Amino acid sequence: MKKLGLYIHIPFCRQKCGYCDFLSFECKSDKLLGEYAKALILEIRNRKEDCIDREVDTLYIGGGTPSLMPAEDVVRIMDEIRRNFNLFPDAEITVEANPASLSREKLEYYRNCGINRLSIGVQSFDNRILRILGRLHDKNEAFHMIQTARKAGFDNISIDLMFGVPTQSLKTWIDTVRQGIFLEPQHISLYSLQLEEGTDLFRRVYDENSLSVIPDDLDRRMYHEAVSMLRDAGYNLYEISNAARPGRESRHNKKYWSYEEYLGLGLGASSFYEGRRFRNYDKMYKYIQAIKEKRVPVDEKTIEHYTVRDEIGIYVFTGLRRAEGIDLKDFRERFGVDLFSVYDPEILAKYKGKIGLYEDRLYLTEEGMDISNSIMAEFV
Ligand code: SF4
Repeated sequence: MKKLGLYIHIPFCRQKCGYCDFLSFECKSDKLLGEYAKALILEIRNRKEDCIDREVDTLYIGGGTPSLMPAEDVVRIMDEIRRNFNLFPDAEITVEANPASLSREKLEYYRNCGINRLSIGVQSFDNRILRILGRLHDKNEAFHMIQTARKAGFDNISIDLMFGVPTQSLKTWIDTVRQGIFLEPQHISLYSLQLEEGTDLFRRVYDENSLSVIPDDLDRRMYHEAVSMLRDAGYNLYEISNAARPGRESRHNKKYWSYEEYLGLGLGASSFYEGRRFRNYDKMYKYIQAIKEKRVPVDEKTIEHYTVRDEIGIYVFTGLRRAEGIDLKDFRERFGVDLFSVYDPEILAKYKGKIGLYEDRLYLTEEGMDISNSIMAEFV
């Protein structure tokens, strides 16, 4: 059977963070969450036939804030997935959680229904930075929840940390990374803050001028310091923003960078399935309406009709995010051509020291990762 990654989107948060432009809405009522869970369950049933010949080896419940949902609803969703999809017994099953909406009780529910990986949005162990980011938790809650998760039996925990935050110093960032390592999660993601239009932080920086962006060179120093600390602590940087203990890389996220199939269920969820890329409706009323009418809630307008050349661009763009880079043999087998018959080999000279080529692998060096966007733009 072909392998499939399944993604379930829970688009609700208690409060919108100051930097967030993800598809998520503030939600204060369990009733809305319950309605949404019902719709998701119907979608899972309706998609059963599509995936009869697929084995789901990774499942990722993301958001939004899935941990905001009553744990009983998460259990119902898990039961429904088991009933309708071929869920591999050894599947990696992740749920995203926010320290402010987790509890020991929820963690017990998660463990008992087979969730075996937690991805916790910590972002910082500095309360001042957490407030600037508009997070609802403080440092102590994050600490407490990671420890509670471990006591509840989770031995595969990932934490997200964010750098490049206005007013953040190198010292406070290093302190955050140190505390993250101290807690011994199996996986740490490092994200450089991106100021997206329409967010509260964007407004404060560009409209009010009450905060300033940090200089690029400080942002890069923060990244390299963190990578070096993580390496010293036994983590392997396997993707530009992700480091893991050996064998604890995110199997689900690796699919996104390795040109593998995934199916997204829930509001606005994206899929790459049978060679097509498409998304579900991102308007709640349209999504619910389609589900009620027993239609697949895919927004026809989002079905991409990519050319082979477009797909090659996506393959290279995503593959170069991985530390191992692109396997040129795999490239030849998939697309029937040599990569350097599609792209000018002069690229190697232009980015000398930033792009490496070794034993049929093309990859970004650590220096290349600093300018990854410019390099990747050459390949799309
Ligand atoms: S918890 Fe996550 S999804 Fe929700 S607003 Fe904050 S960053 Fe966005």
